[in-house]
Amino acid sequence: MELVVIGSSSKGNGYVLNGTSEALCIEAGTKLIETKKALGFDLQKVRGCIVTHSHNDHSRYAKDYADAGIRVLALPDVLEAKGITRNGIAIKMGNAYRLGGFVVMPFAVQHDVPCVGYLIKHSECGKVVFITDTYACDYRFSGVNSYLLEANYSDEILEANIAAGRVSAGMRDRLLTSHFEIANSIRYLLTSDRTALQKVVLIHLSDGNSNEAQFVQQVREAIGKPVYAAIGGMVLQLNASVL
Ligand SMILES: [Zn+2]
Ligand SMILES: [Zn+2]
Repeated sequence: MELVVIGSSSKGNGYVLNGTSEALCIEAGTKLIETKKALGFDLQKVRGCIVTHSHNDHSRYAKDYADAGIRVLALPDVLEAKGITRNGIAIKMGNAYRLGGFVVMPFAVQHDVPCVGYLIKHSECGKVVFITDTYACDYRFSGVNSYLLEANYSDEILEANIAAGRVSAGMRDRLLTSHFEIANSIRYLLTSDRTALQKVVLIHLSDGNSNEAQFVQQVREAIGKPVYAAIGGMVLQLNASVL
């Protein structure tokens, strides 16, 4: 299955898992037209759109997705904030939802507003875990084939930016209780079962407080698997198991 990255930053997050006959949208922080383009204008194959939380870089266009007939799965506060009454499914933590051949299960992660991660299963991509906008996640999963995992900032780069006056000191306090620092991302992977792991895609890198090449190298050295940093327009193959 193809992973199409439409956007992966505080400007807007949108991803599509595009299979042979069905697709799943992850997040609605990028325009529906971009998803349409990614799918060759075949929205019929979309089985749903799963949203993690209410911040606009993840949910700004959620109503457009619902209005286009796509089921939008999100926490009740997201559906309410976006005025979604039709095609909205209010998720409950730990429940599993079947969307065509996809099964998705939301789990709680810690952010500065209610937020979930998703365990996603499909025969074409196997087990995929999606985690973004969090400073702590208590859940671990076995047999995961691919992670889409936030790696938002580096303490070292942030401190240098604060010292140089490029970033306010208050930003540090906010990030500490909202986003994954690169060492957290690495620790999360190192404390997770990696026996079936094939690929890690680092997502939601901060514009000013991250270093793409350095993050990719650090994670690759820590886990010894292929690692990518998500950027808009990127297409990666996510497979169920090694052939
Ligand atoms: Zn975000
Ligand atoms: Zn957020």
